[in-house]
Amino acid sequence: MLYRLNKAGFEAYLVGGGVRDLLLGLHPKDFDVATNASPDEVRELFRNCRLIGRRFRLAHVFFGREIIEVATFRAHHDQSEGEGEGHMENGLILRDNVFGTLEDDAWRRDFTVNALYYNIADFSLVDYTGGMQDLQNRELHIIGDAVTRFREDPVRMLRAIRFAAKLDFHLEARMAAAIGEEGERLSDVPAARLFEEVLKLFMHGQALRTYELMREYHLFKYLFAETNELLDSHGAYLDPFIRRAMINTDERIQAKKPVTPAFLFAVLLWGPVRKRVELLQEEMSVLDALRIAGDEAVREMLKQVTLPKRFSLPMREIWQLQARLEMRRGKRPYRLLENRRFRAAYDFMLLREQVGEPLTELCQWWTEFQQEDEAGQQRLIRALPGNRPVRRKRQPKKKPAARPVITD
Ligand code: ATP
Ligand code: MG
Repeated sequence: MLYRLNKAGFEAYLVGGGVRDLLLGLHPKDFDVATNASPDEVRELFRNCRLIGRRFRLAHVFFGREIIEVATFRAHHDQSEGEGEGHMENGLILRDNVFGTLEDDAWRRDFTVNALYYNIADFSLVDYTGGMQDLQNRELHIIGDAVTRFREDPVRMLRAIRFAAKLDFHLEARMAAAIGEEGERLSDVPAARLFEEVLKLFMHGQALRTYELMREYHLFKYLFAETNELLDSHGAYLDPFIRRAMINTDERIQAKKPVTPAFLFAVLLWGPVRKRVELLQEEMSVLDALRIAGDEAVREMLKQVTLPKRFSLPMREIWQLQARLEMRRGKRPYRLLENRRFRAAYDFMLLREQVGEPLTELCQWWTEFQQEDEAGQQRLIRALPGNRPVRRKRQPKKKPAARPVITD
């Protein structure tokens, strides 16, 4: 791509995470290209290209399953003499649509290590902002004044946390302080954009570190206010639970296993769901309580972060299955095993057990049930406490064992 742009007479650079990660010996997630060709000129060069975005048009060039983002050099407001990026009173960027030079393009980027350009014309690295030095020192530096840049786009604070965690970089002190001061501005960010950021935050392989930094810098509450409150007040159960889940997520990513946003959100909202179930289950079945608690917790979360139906439906199923997994009579275990969310729900239950919920017997039972053949499975069902007629006779009205969803 770079060569083709170059041969057609345009400047073409690899920029952003692609260059940064390669220099750090990491495997880039995606590649971004910066060029002085206009979006229309890019489209003429690549058949497999689609222009996206209304405000600022970007070209997406498709290579099989990969998408490469090609952007024309953009200028920051300072260089655009009032015609480019418009700012609202609170400093938020309104427009971001003025073409500029390579140097303009570098200065409007977020962090110095994200503003390194690999020039295909002579294989040189172009560094206007001191990114190379910061990369060697493993320091994350924002370009320009931290407070101003965070006001322009508060998501940069989340990006700072993400890169610090993912790259194991140190957050420069001035910027760290600015995060403390400006965090609240994240409440102005549209919920849909925050959803995208949540995925990026917890799915790059360093979710645990990200979670720790999010809490440390008091940003977690702008994504999951209720969960954050519970962490502050009842952290003893919830904090280890989220940590374990984050460790699992990181291990799965390491092992190239899929991680679903539904599971991640099921974990992040489990605190608020569980708290509600505790109250509701006095008046209704655990299954109903889980459903209502789930609805309410989701409704609260949607005030901050959107969650598309394709994720929120399976997420609710994971919660519902926490009650169903306890119902092991007759043909039910077989039906559950065939449920599309069984595996996720089972993993979720294991997490709960690992942080001390009284589910050890249930977890072992399901682990064995999955491994056994038909005869073994029958044996497991028959061996369930309630299935022994003798026992039933002796203690006919014994209350069922404590429902673990509810007990601390
Ligand atoms: P990764 O793709 O690994 O998550 P990245 O640095 O490539 O990290 P992208 O979101 O792909 O991040 O963005 C590509 C580049 O665009 C960044 O490296 C940065 O230079 C610039 N950029 C992205 N978001 C912003 C922003 N909010 N403000 C300023 N520059 C940004
Ligand atoms: Mg990228």
